[in-house]
Amino acid sequence: MPLYDFVCGKCGHAFEALVMGGGQPVCPKCRSTELVKQMSTFAARTGGGGGAEGGGSKCAGCTGRSCRTCR
Ligand SMILES: [Zn+2]
Repeated sequence: MPLYDFVCGKCGHAFEALVMGGGQPVCPKCRSTELVKQMSTFAARTGGGGGAEGGGSKCAGCTGRSCRTCR
């Protein structure tokens, strides 16, 4: 379902619009077509961060899992 979030570049009104077949959505408030397409809510969770945590069995004394205590 091609449902997108738009923010009007003229009045700042935020709304959702269905975009089918290259149709041009218009702002329901001021009827402007200067719309800024927002990233959809699906893409809201960006995979940034990158803390590679969660091995679990790593001791503080070594960097790998090579010492006798971390096994
Ligand atoms: Zn508008």
